[in-house]
Formats: sequence, structure tokens, C-alpha cells
Amino acid sequence: MGRIAVLPEVVANRIAAGEVIERPASVAKELIENSLDAGATEVEIRVEGGGTRLVQVSDNGSGIEEEDIRLAFERHATSKIRSAEEISRVLSFGFRGEALPSVASVSEVEMVSAAEGGDGKRVLLEGGRLLKEEKAHRTRGTTAAVRNLFYNTPARRKFLKSAEAEERWIRRAVIAHALAQLSVSFRYLREGDEVFHLPSGEDLLLRVSRLFGRPFAEQMIPIEGREMGPVVTGLVSKVEAARGNRSYQYFHVNGRPVEQSLLVQAATTPFREYLPPRRYPALVISLTIDPSFVDINIHPTKREVRFSPERTIFASIEAPVRRAIRSEKSLPPLWEKGGERKGGAAPRGPSEVRLPLGKESEWTYHRSAEEETAERNLFEEIDPSTLRPVGDTFLVGAGRDLLLIVDKHAAHERILFEEAMDRMEEGKGESQKLLFPETVAVDPVLISVAEEYSEWIEKAGFLVRPIGPRSLMIEGVPPGIRSGEPAGFLIDFLDHLQDEGKKESSRKRGVAASLACHGAIRSGDALTGEEMKNLLARLARARQPFRCPHGRPTVLTLTTEELRHRFLRT
Ligand code: ADP
Ligand code: MG
Repeated sequence: MGRIAVLPEVVANRIAAGEVIERPASVAKELIENSLDAGATEVEIRVEGGGTRLVQVSDNGSGIEEEDIRLAFERHATSKIRSAEEISRVLSFGFRGEALPSVASVSEVEMVSAAEGGDGKRVLLEGGRLLKEEKAHRTRGTTAAVRNLFYNTPARRKFLKSAEAEERWIRRAVIAHALAQLSVSFRYLREGDEVFHLPSGEDLLLRVSRLFGRPFAEQMIPIEGREMGPVVTGLVSKVEAARGNRSYQYFHVNGRPVEQSLLVQAATTPFREYLPPRRYPALVISLTIDPSFVDINIHPTKREVRFSPERTIFASIEAPVRRAIRSEKSLPPLWEKGGERKGGAAPRGPSEVRLPLGKESEWTYHRSAEEETAERNLFEEIDPSTLRPVGDTFLVGAGRDLLLIVDKHAAHERILFEEAMDRMEEGKGESQKLLFPETVAVDPVLISVAEEYSEWIEKAGFLVRPIGPRSLMIEGVPPGIRSGEPAGFLIDFLDHLQDEGKKESSRKRGVAASLACHGAIRSGDALTGEEMKNLLARLARARQPFRCPHGRPTVLTLTTEELRHRFLRT
């Protein structure tokens, strides 16, 4: 190891940038936070090329004094705190003086700012080096334009997703702030086109409605709670309006957007008894709490915070959410024990296949791959004429040495899942035309998802086209789908596509599973003898006949040997 040396500032900044500026959305977040810290009441965000070409934020805030503007780009230069003790009390978003130097070190920045009564100034930086400083005129406020992000850090640039996906991250960051700052107006433009304009002073519900559409807003219930100390307010979706991914969950702590599993857990626990797995309520929840109970200085981007005591925070969110769901009168749990969802077209929940006799081990679940190949021909042993329904959910069939029980929804789901995967791989794109094309009002984000994944959507068998910035027209759905609600079906499909966190292959699986779920027969659907035979024959041909796409068993068997054992004949 060599001698110790202090890193030059440009290098230090670039290292800090690695922590603070993960992607274009981080730039948007930092700039918006600076605008809010400057007391802006109007913020405009412009994005081009998924944010790598341009992220520009303009505000009407306090502006920066002429002689300070250069300082703003120096490390640990901040106007927000003066001593370490102040950190525990800060209410501003920034306080480390790290954001601007980090952003500047990996991009080209142009900033124009004017304080009250002062002349404006413009600075131009490249890779953190000041290129130009000159007088410029503008009204009070600041405009920061960040261009060519990560031009000098190719590794980071390579790590970015598609421009469309990056733009959605940015939009999400903007929305997260917009949902917390109702007194500030936000205008958001993509490639020069206005995506939304939120006037100041409207209530949360109206803002939600402008952002995600009216049908979405109509499904939200207000929550309020203050009995535990922290003040909790916001909106949660009705159970029926739950979505296929978490992207409609927003949390704020003292006006700061955070992503924190404690809060997610607290807000989703009351939904658990009503929601099937992989359905997520939409949530916009604000927590107001004495700042000394939160440590915001634990994460480089302050995305996570630390609370004390956690139990109080949990309870203070859970209680009002539970109250809100309960207040939705006459709400039956969607999932009956051991049964199926009643009506509707959302994915099914836990089937709770309770075995009628004895311990689980006496029935055979087909687990390992080898076991499964060995067992594959068990379907052939079943005499199709013996197939009978048992209750609403199951079929039973007998063979010479075997009793087979089929969960008909799970089995059908497996069959449709594989068909959907095949269609998406081979791109046959067959579609079933709707007699009456349906128009759906959607969140503009879903329009961008629909555009980006038009190929998948087509291959899956949807015929869809955007009409205007927030509506889609559905003209056809995948073949073999029985869903009476093409709109809910399509939205669920798009939600899966939008699940950015996931790898492409698992997203494809999610999409196929959602197709299968919507198409599959439900409990209570009576099947004819021919249909039962057909179901079993198709299941027998499936590549993985023993599990539904969600991993639950499709069939159980009981052999005569096991029967003998149960009747104490061995
Ligand atoms: P921090 O926000 O942690 O103080 P930044 O690097 O984000 O650090 O910003 C440095 C300083 O630049 C801020 O403290 C603030 O004084 C000034 N500044 C940055 N953006 C703006 C803006 N939009 N309006 C007014 N002042 C700003
Ligand atoms: Mg800042």
C-alpha cells in the first residue's frame, strides 16, 4: 500500500456521485428538492431522452445570490445548516451540500439563478469544472439544466434501462414529491410535451385524479389517524382496486418521500385478509412526526429513514388503514376459506387445499422434477369416465390403482400459462376481436408502458392503441380468455410489464401468469363431462402439469397402497 493522499475534489465528487446519483431520476429528485428548499411555489420539470439528454428543473424560489452560485457546486457547501447539531432538527430536504457537486461531476450543468432584487447569473460546468460564469437576466428563481448525464462514467450509463423506463422512474420521483407538496404547482414535460400540470392548492384526491385518472381516484378512501402521536393522513385504495405491482404506493415522512418496508408492512397488513397474493393496494400515506423521532441521515439519498420507536409508527399507520377498509360497508372477504374469489377477474388467492383426511404426507404432492417425470403417466391411468366434480373447486377421477384430485382453476391456469408463454415466444399474436371495442381511462404511465411493450402486448394477443394521453382503446383480447372485463384485464397485464424491478424473463412469466389467471375457469363454473376430460388431457400435455404458475399444486393423488395403509391393512 502506498502513501496516503487526499483525493482531488473532482475525484471525490465523482465517488460521491456514485452514491447519490444512481440514475436520471436521482437528478430530478435532487433538483426538485433544492427548489422546494428554496421555497418555490412553482416547479417545472423537463425531461428528454429518458433524462440522460436533459433533466431541467425551473423554480420561482429564493434564487442564489450572485457571489454564491459558484459555491453551490463545491462539496459540503450548503446554506441549510451551520453545525452538526442542527442535523437532528432539519426540515429541509438537503443539508449535506453534496447533490450539486455530485450531479455536476458526471454531466454538463447549466444553472441560471437570480435572487430577489439581484441580477441573475449563469454558470456552465462540465464534469464538475467551471467553464463559464456570466451575467444573465431572469426573474427570481433558479433553472438548473443537466445534460449528457454519465457521459464520463460509461459503466454507469451502461447500467441504465431503456429511455422509457428511466423516464418512468423520473416521473415517479416527481409524483412522489407532488403528492406531498400540495401547495406547490408542478408541471411535467416529456420531449417538450406536457404530461401533467398540477395547480397548487388542490386537495390530495384531486391531485391523484389529475395524475392517475378519475376512475383511479374514485377507488380511493381517505384515512386519518392521530391517536398514537404521529399524524397520519392520505388515501388507500379499496380492496377491489388493488393493483398488480407496488408502483402505486407512496409514503411521506414530514413531506419527504421515503421507501420503507416498515411503512409498507404497516399499511398493507390490514389488506392481507382480503387480498390474494401479488395484489397490492394503492397507497398515498403521509406521516407527520416530531423530527427528533426520525433519523434521515442514514441513507445516501435519504430514501430510507430510521424511526424510534418503530412499534408506534407501525400502529399509527395500521390503525387508520384498518378503519378505512372496514368502513367500506358490506365488504365481504374476497377469499373464502378453502374456496375461490367470488366473481370479478382478479388473480385467485391462496386455495388452502385442506386435505379431507389425515396428514398431508399421506397424499402425494408432486415435487421434484424426477418424481414428476416418473409420475407423468399417472394421467393416463385415470379412466376419464370416472371424472366427477367435488364441491365447487375440485374434480376427482379414479384409475385402477389411483385416486386423483384436480384443482380445476389451478389446472386450467397452468394450461393457459404455458399457452401464453408459447404465444409470446413464438409471436403468433392471435387475438379475439371484441364485438364492442372498449375505451379505458388510464394513468399516462401505462400509456408509456403500452408503447414500450407494444410487441409483447401484440404477441400476447391484445389489440390495443392509445387514443390521447390518458386513454387506451381495446379492440381485441387474447384467445381463450373468458374475462368479461377487458379493461381490468389489460391494466393488470400492463402492471406486470411495468414491474421494472424484475428481469425480463420473470416479467414475461408474470405477464403470462396474469393472462392465465384471467382466462382460467373459476370455482363454481360447472364443467361438462367432455370439458373435464379435455381439461385433464390438456394438463397431461403440459410441460409442468403439477403446479400452477404461482406454485400451488394442481393435482393430488392417493394410491391404493396409501389407502391400504390408512385402512390398517398393512
Ligand atoms: P444541499 O441541498 O444539501 O444544501 P446542494 O448541493 O443540493 O446541497 O445545493 C447546494 C446549495 O445551493 C444549497 O444549499 C442552496 O443554497 C443552493 N441551491 C441549490 N439549488 C437551489 C435552488 N433551486 N434555489 C435556491 N438555492 C439553491
Ligand atoms: Mg440539495
